Amino acid sequence: MWRLDAQDLGDADADLTAALTYKNGNAVYALTPVERAAIHAVYALYEVMLGQPAPGLRPVALDAARQFMHDAYSQVQIGGRLEDLRARILASTQACPYCGFGEVKDLDHYLPRGTYGELAIYPRNLVPSCGPCNNAKRTVYPGMPAAQGPGLVHAYYQPLPDEDFLHADADFDPDGTLSVTFRIDNPTMDPALAAKLQFQLDRLRLNARYRAQVNKYLSEQRAAILMLHAAGEAVFSEFLQRSSAALIASYGRNDWRVALLRTLAADPAFCAAPERYLGPPPA
Ligand SMILES: [Zn+2]
Repeated sequence: MWRLDAQDLGDADADLTAALTYKNGNAVYALTPVERAAIHAVYALYEVMLGQPAPGLRPVALDAARQFMHDAYSQVQIGGRLEDLRARILASTQACPYCGFGEVKDLDHYLPRGTYGELAIYPRNLVPSCGPCNNAKRTVYPGMPAAQGPGLVHAYYQPLPDEDFLHADADFDPDGTLSVTFRIDNPTMDPALAAKLQFQLDRLRLNARYRAQVNKYLSEQRAAILMLHAAGEAVFSEFLQRSSAALIASYGRNDWRVALLRTLAADPAFCAAPERYLGPPPA
């Protein structure tokens, strides 16, 4: 989660023309050469700004074209003239970069097209996401009024430290309930970035949504967990640690599964009696 490789840009000129042309070949809106150049300048500035807002991303030169660019996003929907672009972006990841588990079905406009109509079909402003993350994010973006928070990290551009910053707190209730809460915790990381990542966890209600994932995941691992536990507590803890480290290759260092297993490996209550926290065996 958190990171994806940036999308290929494809042929921006051809995409613009397709998006603004009816099936019969008539123009929905005929871009002037000045407007076309202004859109290319906006795209180039987006790269320089790493997707973060800037006044130049909404130039006066595009005041007339902006609404048409906004509406042209309908061509990126299923059945539209740019549906290949949609399919390509959705196929670029197995799971939603915002939560790390959801099935990608939506394209999130990182900078909302309501404000930045000129970026409505720009591939690198389109982040493949699951429905719940896309709905929870809505039009949140960096630079919006401070009361609404710092915005989310950009999956294509945000550099992240190669250090653990997603931490899982596990509460073991004597009745056998395991409740896990994730938070951002790394004292040496840039506080502004940490605040942004924590805002993302909260805004997307990830803790509430991870609860079911954690239960499902542990239940899937149930047989392996019980078998390894039978080999002794120390071996079992080592197994959990190694599993956590092995998952980094697939999901990245700050994935919820990696953080979960790291915490469980270090927890004496879990390592002593994991069967108490795994729920009933599958029927
Ligand atoms: Zn998601």
